[in-house]
Amino acid sequence: MSVGAYLQLSIAVALATIALKAGAWWFTGSVSLLSDALESLVNLAGAMFALWMVTVASRPPDAEHPYGHHKAEYFSSGFEGILIFAAALGIVWAAVLRLLDPQPLQAVGLGLVLTVAGSVMNGALAFAMLRHARKQRSMALEADARHLFTDVWTSAGVVAGVLAVQATGWLWLDPVTAIAVAINILREGSSLVRRSVDGLMDARLEPEVLRDIDAVLARFRGPAIRFDHVHSRRAGQRRFVDLHLHLPAGWTLDRAAALRNAVEQALMSAVPGLRASIQLLPSDVEAHVDAVDVDETEDRP
Ligand SMILES: [Zn+2]
Repeated sequence: MSVGAYLQLSIAVALATIALKAGAWWFTGSVSLLSDALESLVNLAGAMFALWMVTVASRPPDAEHPYGHHKAEYFSSGFEGILIFAAALGIVWAAVLRLLDPQPLQAVGLGLVLTVAGSVMNGALAFAMLRHARKQRSMALEADARHLFTDVWTSAGVVAGVLAVQATGWLWLDPVTAIAVAINILREGSSLVRRSVDGLMDARLEPEVLRDIDAVLARFRGPAIRFDHVHSRRAGQRRFVDLHLHLPAGWTLDRAAALRNAVEQALMSAVPGLRASIQLLPSDVEAHVDAVDVDETEDRP
């Protein structure tokens, strides 16, 4: 299944879950079940936005965006993080009102059956999506799957809370559970926002990928051939590396270009999705670079 197909499926599941959980809230009057339903609403909005952004990310490069549109995925996880904050505030608001005016719960058995049914659907989908997201390195899909998992855990907490209200008769436990759900949602939201900021700030490639790049360069290194100024960055599923290839000044341009081409081919076949920019320079000439002189393949343990 493609990333897009998973996101479409997650929209369908979110719709069904919202109906089930809204029903659970409607029958019981429980604010903690309302908080659970609101979280599913966030899932729906997040999945729809992610689907749109994955569609944008998969567009080929154009004149306006010559490096492609991969970073669109980072908007998706950032947006979902912001939605989560809004949902958490709404839950706290409803819970505080209920704390001030406690209400007994109705039809608890029916409410819990509906909630559990929704959670089982979410859990199965989240598990399948997370596995696929890891394989495809899709930020949007991973954000969506992680969010679904949070939803399953919060539902479990809410079910336990509602059962405890029934067992003890402590009506305040229902809004307190809802506030706990809100705090948990906030934690997840802030980690999503942090991840998308990392992506937008051009974090370098993963250490294991840098090791692969270094291994390729080692094959070409020689007494007269040197690589330096290796800089990398990530943009969604696309990876970039820039580096210098220093050669003896006496080489013909033909010979230098052939070596450059071989290095580029080797890098691209070692690291899928990599775009390499290799600058050719004579051994004793250094290009003007504004970046700090950090060779990423050498400063790792
Ligand atoms: Zn250099």
